[in-house]
Amino acid sequence: MRKKIVAGNWKMNTDDEEGLSLFSEIVNMVRDEKKGDQIAIICAPFTHLKSLVQLGSETVKIGAQNCHQKESGAYTGEISAKMIRSIGCEYVIIGHSERRQYFAESDELLAEKTKIALANGLTPLFCIGETLDERNNGNFFEILRAQLDNGIFGLDTEDFSKVIIAYEPVWAIGTGLTATAEQAQEVHEFIRAEVSGKYGEDVAEETSILYGGSCNPKNAAELFAQKDIDGGLIGGASLKSRDFTDIVKTFN
Ligand code: PGA
Repeated sequence: MRKKIVAGNWKMNTDDEEGLSLFSEIVNMVRDEKKGDQIAIICAPFTHLKSLVQLGSETVKIGAQNCHQKESGAYTGEISAKMIRSIGCEYVIIGHSERRQYFAESDELLAEKTKIALANGLTPLFCIGETLDERNNGNFFEILRAQLDNGIFGLDTEDFSKVIIAYEPVWAIGTGLTATAEQAQEVHEFIRAEVSGKYGEDVAEETSILYGGSCNPKNAAELFAQKDIDGGLIGGASLKSRDFTDIVKTFN
């Protein structure tokens, strides 16, 4: 059985106090709603991570939103996977479309980040997704295939099995334009078939593939009911404890 996961991505939101109180609320609310085999994750800004880990929660796991591709060194202002893991953080988002777009992160760079994250014991939430132009041009399957091939298909099977994939159509992120359940399922099925072609059916069946892009308590149930959608990566709605909890509850 593959894991059912709801991960929040707070992006560059909340100051220290706001972050801590939002996290405490989420932990308390999710505790009563989450089923045993589900995983809830909050990916918070770097400055919050240690405090959130110390608040300690078996209920909600903690992730970072990025890491550097090198182990250590003269990279002023950067944070390594080792540092993130050393404070007890377990997950890291890699390849979010905002990093690809605003920080020019290429598939090749993201492949390096994924490797270093895994080498340091972090579980990558690896994001892929097409832009609106790419969807309208009809070549989005090739775009997604290239993101998989160049980003994570260089991993050996053991490492690949630890990766969580998130499909986030760029046109749906923060826009209120959610992909329909059919559109999302079509892509998730495609991703699973690609994984199967590369790593075999058993690995593909075990790979969690999350949907992200304007996912909210109203549309989560229909999305998560699709057979290849194993949960969500939630931006805006993860900044409201009730909404995030309601999305987690969707699995119950
Ligand atoms: P959104 O963001 O839910 O606000 O659309 C999703 C994401 O960027 O991960």
